[in-house]
Amino acid sequence: MNNRQLFLNHVGQTSEAPLALEIVKAEGSKLFDTAGKEYIDLIGGISVCNVGHRHPKVIEAIKKQLEDYLHIMVYGELVQSPQVQYATMLTQYLPASLNAVFFTASGSEATEGAMKLAKRCSGRTQIISFKNSYHGSTQGALSIMGDEYWRNAFRPLLPDTMQLNYNSFEDLENITERTACVIAETVQAEAGVLVPKNNWLKTLREKCTATGTLLVLDEIQCGFGRNGTLWAFEQFNVVPDILLLGKALGGGMPLGAFIADKKIMDSLSHNPVLGHINTFGGHPVCCAAGLAAFKVLLDEKLIDGVKGKEDLFVKLLSQGSDGFKPSRPITVRSCGLMIAIEFENFETNKEIIDELILQGVFTDWFLFASNCLRIVPPLVISEEEIRRACSAISNIFINIKP
Ligand code: PMP
Repeated sequence: MNNRQLFLNHVGQTSEAPLALEIVKAEGSKLFDTAGKEYIDLIGGISVCNVGHRHPKVIEAIKKQLEDYLHIMVYGELVQSPQVQYATMLTQYLPASLNAVFFTASGSEATEGAMKLAKRCSGRTQIISFKNSYHGSTQGALSIMGDEYWRNAFRPLLPDTMQLNYNSFEDLENITERTACVIAETVQAEAGVLVPKNNWLKTLREKCTATGTLLVLDEIQCGFGRNGTLWAFEQFNVVPDILLLGKALGGGMPLGAFIADKKIMDSLSHNPVLGHINTFGGHPVCCAAGLAAFKVLLDEKLIDGVKGKEDLFVKLLSQGSDGFKPSRPITVRSCGLMIAIEFENFETNKEIIDELILQGVFTDWFLFASNCLRIVPPLVISEEEIRRACSAISNIFINIKP
């Protein structure tokens, strides 16, 4: 039996139609399958591989850590240099109030930790989030997910949660002195790239401050330069009380974190002691990899190139390229290198995605916007790769009937 069949038989499945492509090598913005076929990677492991696959500096840091130790103890007891170095460097690049990093093993667990922290230090129970938001798949994170279809089968979920409309000023009135925290993606990713408009995020910040509610911003998908600034919240003049990180945080290794002021964070260490614990959070190899990737992001000034690459994608996709002129308008939404191309429906999108994969361009759709094609490539994607990918998308689109 080949690996594909074994995958279908013995690996727990998440859908009835997985892509089931076998990738044997990844480098920069490219993936290679068993036949040696090359793919331009337009999704970078879903906003994970911001510095590209297998960056030499990241590989070097992992190898170096392997020489010293792997797992030695559960999170929180021992001084582990990769954790300490990475936490310290992250806080140097964050506002002064975000100075304590609690490492987890995934983004979902960062969400869980933040929800617990907010309840613990406010003594309140209500948690507010937004429609079409995604914060993870565990029970707590699922309870605040902004879409009924995806969570209804798993009831009962956490009580006392409420989902408001993102970008609605009116809905912010629901935030009161009972609200422990409001959790929002700074830019909603799985909604198909939804950007906060007209000072809405600032108004949300003000409402949280006025009611003593903690503002949690989820930058698991939009952090680390994805939206054109190191942190997306920089673009909207707000500072969260708690920041959620994941995905690109580990430079290709599993790592998550929730970050807050030490005064708030310390409430997890007493009453009860061990208020949040885990075995693998801040794994030394993951922290070494993440720290190396963070340094690459800054040293190679990768964020400086994001706006130009975004503009090139948007221009080529909406105005056409290689003699291609869209026969009908194509809607492109973008915030840095987080781009959604909106098609009429899921069927058209799926047809385009399948054909793109055949033509060596790897992409998929968004959870709450299945009619939108996802472009969240490694930030190192080259101009030539962008041109090739856009020309493939355009040529397939032109040949598909509306
Ligand atoms: N928040 C956001 C915005 C995400 O995109 C994701 C993952 N797609 C998560 C939380 C959950 O992260 P993980 O899959 O690592 O648990």
